[in-house]
Amino acid sequence: MSNYIYNYPEQYAQDIVSSFDLTPPIDLTKICETLELKINYEPLYSIEALLIVSAGKKNIIIDNSRAIYPQRERFTIAHEIGHYIMPWHENLQQCDKIVNFDSDDEVENQANDFASELLVPKSNLLEDIKGKRITLTLIKDLAEQYGVSLVVMARRVLQYADSEAVVLIYYPNGKKYVQMKSKTFKEELKDGCITKSSAHKLLTSYNTSAEIKDVLESSIWFKENGDTYKIIEESMFQNNLGRVFTLLRKADDDDILDLLWDI
Ligand SMILES: [Zn+2]
Repeated sequence: MSNYIYNYPEQYAQDIVSSFDLTPPIDLTKICETLELKINYEPLYSIEALLIVSAGKKNIIIDNSRAIYPQRERFTIAHEIGHYIMPWHENLQQCDKIVNFDSDDEVENQANDFASELLVPKSNLLEDIKGKRITLTLIKDLAEQYGVSLVVMARRVLQYADSEAVVLIYYPNGKKYVQMKSKTFKEELKDGCITKSSAHKLLTSYNTSAEIKDVLESSIWFKENGDTYKIIEESMFQNNLGRVFTLLRKADDDDILDLLWDI
């Protein structure tokens, strides 16, 4: 890649943010207009989006045969802009399961790295999380502020957070999909249903509110390693997806103080 201006997807994203003088929420329409990239909606069925650059035409095509959430669509468009901008990416890209972030395809991962930096620029995010405790409320507020999904924002926040934390998706059968671990998070999640967790309660009880914050022993969620401590679980039922979004974080002194006040 040494013949290109930059070597990393993030650098291409930073270049666009600074040369277009953008601040979050990033105006993707403005970027597409300036780059003369057209966005079309067509039923593609088997894939989420396409980028086609051919014979002077530059098109991003979004599948409209499925429900598209605005934040999800923004990430898809940013991902396709990434393919277009990175000079070593081919002129035809067929993209699916973009926000699963589990592709083995390096080109797909680079487009996601580009989209993450474009929509949630590191420099802005660092300012916004400086000195703050990582909570579900913070992640939700920032997701709204930057116009991205909860998962995309949680991944960005945990990428730079100092606290020991993990974000995961929990399904009724006990399947857990870890979205992101902070650098300092070392624990291993227990297998199967975590029956004493708030996530599990949210999926098995019809009387609970859509969100629970709780203080638990670490051994409820994590495999034993001889060291038990208090953790904060914040879980939110995502009704439209039939799953729970969970943030687990090692409790700090302030959490323990809050807990004492609550009693
Ligand atoms: Zn792609």
